[in-house]
Parts: sequence; C-alpha cells; structure tokens
Amino acid sequence: MRHLHHLAGSIGPRGSTTDDEREASRYVRDRFEELGLESHWERFRAPVSGWRPFALAAMVGLLSVGLTLWAGRVGAAVAAVLMGVATVSVFLEMYFRPNALRALVRKGDSQNVWAQVPPRGETELTVVLVGHVDTHRTPWVFTSPRRLSTFRAITTLGVAAFVIGTVIFALAGVFDIATLRPWSLALAPVYLLVLAVTLQPDTTPFTQGANDNASGAAVVLSLAGRIAREPLARTEVVALASGCEEVGSYGAQAFLQAHRDGFVGLRAISVDNVGGKGVGVCYTSVEGMVFPLKPSPELLALAEAVRRDRPDLNAYPLPYTTLHTDATAFMARGVPSLSFVGLTPAGVIPDWHQECDTVERVDPGTVERTEEFVLELLRRLDEGPSAAPEG
Ligand SMILES: [Zn+2]
Repeated sequence: MRHLHHLAGSIGPRGSTTDDEREASRYVRDRFEELGLESHWERFRAPVSGWRPFALAAMVGLLSVGLTLWAGRVGAAVAAVLMGVATVSVFLEMYFRPNALRALVRKGDSQNVWAQVPPRGETELTVVLVGHVDTHRTPWVFTSPRRLSTFRAITTLGVAAFVIGTVIFALAGVFDIATLRPWSLALAPVYLLVLAVTLQPDTTPFTQGANDNASGAAVVLSLAGRIAREPLARTEVVALASGCEEVGSYGAQAFLQAHRDGFVGLRAISVDNVGGKGVGVCYTSVEGMVFPLKPSPELLALAEAVRRDRPDLNAYPLPYTTLHTDATAFMARGVPSLSFVGLTPAGVIPDWHQECDTVERVDPGTVERTEEFVLELLRRLDEGPSAAPEG
C-alpha cells in the first residue's frame, strides 16, 4: 500500500510516455536498488495514443466510402487497397505486431524497469512478474457500465465494418460490380461512430490509476522484496515495471523483443487492476479482443489448485476480452502466461479508466489477497515436478 500511495497519490496521473510515467519508473528503480537488486532501465519509443490507429482506420473507411461513391471504378479499387491495408493493420495492432497505422502515430519516450531476483539454487525456470506503471485517459465510453457495453458493441461492429468494407470496395472496384457502390454508404455511420469513440479519449485527462495500475506495480515491487529476502529454490523472478501498457503494451513488447530468448524456461504473470472494492482474486480464463488467447495450462492448473486450497483468498477465473493486458502481449508471442485482472464476479473492473480511480477507492484487502495468491502460486510452481522449460 505504501508503493500504491506513492505511485497514485504522490505522483498521480502517469500518462504513457509522459514525465510522470518516468517518475514512476524512477520510483520503482530506487526501490529495487534499496532491496540490493541490480536494476535495468530500458528505454523504448512508443505511440502516445492507443486510440489513434483505430481512429485512422475509421478515417480511411470514410474516405473509402467517398471514393467508392464518387470516383467510379478506379476510386473503388483504390478504396479497396486502402481499406485492406487499414483492416490488416487493425488486426496486427490488436495483436501487438508492427503495422502501417502504428507508423502514422506520434511517438514518445518510455521505459521498462526490471530486476532479477535469483533463486537459491541453479535457475531452472524464469517468471516475469509484470505490472505496468502508466495510466490511461478517462474516455467517455468508460463512464458507465452501459456505455462500456455499447463501446464493446461498437468495437465488434467496427471490426466487422472494416472487413465488410474491404470486400464491398473490392467487389465494386476490382470486379466492377457497380450496383454495390451505393451499398458502401451503409458503412459510413459505423465508421463515424468508431471515429467518435476513438478520437474523444485523447481529449480527456489521465487518471491517477490507483487500481489501474498502481496496485499491480505495487504488488510486483512488494513481491520482489519478499522473494529477495526469501528466495525460491530454482525459479528466478524477474520483476518488471512496464511502461506504455495503456497504449498497446509497448513495454511488454519491447521487453520480449530484447529478452525473449535470454531467460531459462520463460513464463509470465501479469498483475493489473488488483485493488478494486468487491473484487476477489481474479485470473483470466481467456484474453484477446477478437481471437481468444489462452493462459498457460500449467499456470492455470496451479491457480486452480491454489483457489481450491485457499478459499479465504476468494479467487475465481473469468474471461477478459474488452481490451488487452501485458499478459495478452506475452501470450500473443507464445510465452506461457497467467493474467490477474481484478474483475468483480459480474465481470466489471471498478472505476476503470475513470477520474474516480483514486487511492481512497482502493481496497487494501484485495491488493493483499492478490499478493498472497501470486506468492503461493510461485512457490507451488517452484516446488512443482516439471523442470522442463515450457517456453
Ligand atoms: Zn492496466
């Protein structure tokens, strides 16, 4: 809670790529040094907005409708190419891959801070324990549960409209089916809607992010300290305070790019939003906005065992497909992972991406139970029979 108070209360809003995010990273680095751990500070470049690529795709959609309606067959063919590139880029962006739209978004400096906590014996496994330090903006779509479910519907509709648009423009242009051209007009309202909900967020202030995600970063820091004092037998823990999760898990991506093959038996556990009131210890059964990504069967089985043996921690699994986490980025790269996201049993993250995500609203019990659960899980993994590297 001391770490949480400092990150969310003293530093406050920590927008991705901002100086405040950097100050949070410095705080983590100083705590690592205090623990006698060697800290690594790794800078990377990242887009300043996670919304902008999707807003650009919607703009391409509107332009493409115009071209198809008023620029004849050639216009429709050009629209098909533009929309095709934008649509592929949208999918690549959602699954953490380079793409044409990302290239068009302004970049800023961010950083990962991490430290290794070595085991007592030879390292047979490595677990990256990741919690992001940056905070999101406070978009209108997050201001009520109803608006959030509308947002979910718009994202699904939007992705469908990008795919359908590409097909209609291609049929109208490449195959010259002129009667299809007026049909493209039906897509315009969807593109407009997507444009509205993706442009608005970048006009809003950043949240203090006590739950999202001072709570997760604090748990990672606290566990690094506890494990440093009482090391595991064969499992090295890499405590990673990532930057730029909120704009597309760029910190997690940068870390993997640099270190994917550098660790023995790599696994990952992400801790995100673990201080909400009315929340148990929730780990995800599936993640990913379009294609579902699954947690590591090994880590999930261990979590299930801890859940059964420790009813006092009130743990449960739930699916999470509204947005992504750093674990989604690890899963998308094939790293066996488990993801803690503090959803209530009804599937809601309290105060998510809102101005009310403040220190006063955090339930210290939720934070502590999550920390206990993750530590128990790590100990069981450490004791477990499988010495075979999974990743
Ligand atoms: Zn988060």
